[in-house]
Amino acid sequence: MPDAPPVIEIRDLHKAYGPLEVLKGVDLTARQGQVVSLIGSSGSGKSTLLRCANLLEDSQKGDILFCEEPITWRGSGHARRPADAAQITRIRTNLSMVFQSFNLWSHLTILQNVMEAPVHVMRRDPAEVEARARDYLAKVGIADKADAWPAQLSGGQQQRAAIARALAMEPKALLFDEPTSALDPELEQEVVRVIKALADEGRTMVIVTHDMKLAHDVSDHVIFLHKGLIEEEGPPDALFGQPKSERLRGFLSATSH
Ligand code: ADP
Ligand code: MG
Repeated sequence: MPDAPPVIEIRDLHKAYGPLEVLKGVDLTARQGQVVSLIGSSGSGKSTLLRCANLLEDSQKGDILFCEEPITWRGSGHARRPADAAQITRIRTNLSMVFQSFNLWSHLTILQNVMEAPVHVMRRDPAEVEARARDYLAKVGIADKADAWPAQLSGGQQQRAAIARALAMEPKALLFDEPTSALDPELEQEVVRVIKALADEGRTMVIVTHDMKLAHDVSDHVIFLHKGLIEEEGPPDALFGQPKSERLRGFLSATSH
């Protein structure tokens, strides 16, 4: 897998909100089939890095490449913006994001939620999309909830629906931002199982998580962010087994119970 082509590459990324520097030169590569996890204290810049990767946020310096295609920019510093709208659309539709808060549309059934973007944004054939949507709902274990409303589902079921919705885009990579943080422990595990199954089938994923067991079990590479910089990174066994930096050791002992 080290030789697999990169899907997402971020090089020396800098991002500030006004005077607040949130990312101070961060690199990340997710190759095809790889799972990269981002860990670190609250406020270290994990969500910001995901949102920059998905071009939901502007960044001021550094490069972002998607399938080896660099984003083209115009302007510089705080005026820097992506230059090519078609490129942005192409990249966004190939990177599906799953949020902590599920973000299902409450006025649509579960099936309609999963079908919405492929049919209305990507203009795919509705019958084909529906067949695949049902397959994805089965894959995440909620085939029987197709006609239910989001409010009728547990948090774990809603998050699995959100994962089915992300898969229905047929993306080249999935981005997860704390996908289990809003869930009770027993519901967390049903989402963890789905994420592990996706990793096993070779999906390219970047996962922000507070769940160190998930990060350990599912990742090819783990990045520990501290105040907008990579403090330490490596394969999960090394990172969790022999953490080198004092800060990472402190973080791990504070998060393990
Ligand atoms: P994490 O996901 O690691 O908890 P975030 O990326 O959400 O961290 O936030 C990193 C820093 O950026 C924090 O100090 C946060 O307050 C700040 N921040 C995040 N989003 C915004 C925003 N939209 N405007 C201003 N500051 C923000
Ligand atoms: Mg966050």
